[in-house]
Amino acid sequence: MSEISYKLNHIQHYYGDKKVLDIDGLQICRGSITGLTGPNGSGKSTLLKIMAFALKPTHGQVWLNGRKEFVLSPRVRSKVTLLTQKPYLLKRSVFDNIAYGLKIRKDMGDIENRVKDALKSVGLAHGDFARRQWHELSGGEAQRVAMAARLVLQPEVLLLDEPVASVDTKSAEQIRKASLAARKNWGCTLIIASHDLPWLYECSDTRISIFQGQIFSTGTENIIPPPYDLSQKNHPVKWLGQNEKSEHIHLAPGKKNNKFAIIQKEKIHIRLEKEKANGWENQITGQITSMVMEKNAELIMTTIQAKDFFIDISLSPDQAENLKLLPGKKIILMFSSRDIEWR
Ligand code: ADP
Repeated sequence: MSEISYKLNHIQHYYGDKKVLDIDGLQICRGSITGLTGPNGSGKSTLLKIMAFALKPTHGQVWLNGRKEFVLSPRVRSKVTLLTQKPYLLKRSVFDNIAYGLKIRKDMGDIENRVKDALKSVGLAHGDFARRQWHELSGGEAQRVAMAARLVLQPEVLLLDEPVASVDTKSAEQIRKASLAARKNWGCTLIIASHDLPWLYECSDTRISIFQGQIFSTGTENIIPPPYDLSQKNHPVKWLGQNEKSEHIHLAPGKKNNKFAIIQKEKIHIRLEKEKANGWENQITGQITSMVMEKNAELIMTTIQAKDFFIDISLSPDQAENLKLLPGKKIILMFSSRDIEWR
């Protein structure tokens, strides 16, 4: 059994009277890399701030290493670090930015070499970068310096909020390598929020997806997002377009307000053409947007877009080859309304 790093119990967070997080329970294993996905405004940053003990949740507790912890607890300050979406650099040199955290901790031994190693881990040469000023960096380089400033502290937990949202491909690759190296070199636990799904799938072992403040998927299920309507026959449906001819998904009966439609990955089948009367009432046209080999698995994580929502499924390499599946290809998603749950 892996050791548990985080345990979240009944976390709710409100900004004013607006509830933005409602998480019954969540556990994160030590040394794991967890990808956090979800649309804008779904609560990812709020969750990361709560896990960084930078924000006190309105209700609920966060446990780290088996202890209930709090904002400003001295125990967590040196263990957990968050790289926020817009990294903040001090108006100083790259060297000073990276050394700053060590100096604050009065951890002064061999600073020169530790800064050098941290720069190297994000693919920046000490000779070129250490003496540069904060304003002499591209967006991607600034993000890598901010990452190096966290890595030099060798934190037990590193929380990354959209680390590659506005960086070049090379920087994204270096940030990925540095994340994996942190886990390998000192067993760092990482939680990474990102919209870049192919990048995230290459970094992470597990994924959680968050929607309107609730956690739905732990890598095995998909949410069919609201709004939901009723058909003329009073069955719940999800329209995939604006007009009469648009496709729609037949959902399971039993819809209740404030519940979401969920379908497990393995209940979704792929075909190249629609089929007559095959028992699956949903035959939905989609387009493959990405295919990525899952880490530690012999499966291909395939993301398919059907109008305004994305569905993830896992395919074997044989399936992908037999159907000649590639990103950009149009396919048909088949599933039964009976396999949809309301949660
Ligand atoms: P994400 O990171 O997934 O985009 P956030 O956690 O930033 O989501 O935001 C979740 C919701 O909380 C959004 O509706 C956002 O507008 C709101 N929100 C975030 N920060 C604040 C704040 N400081 N005050 C009020 N509302 C906020």
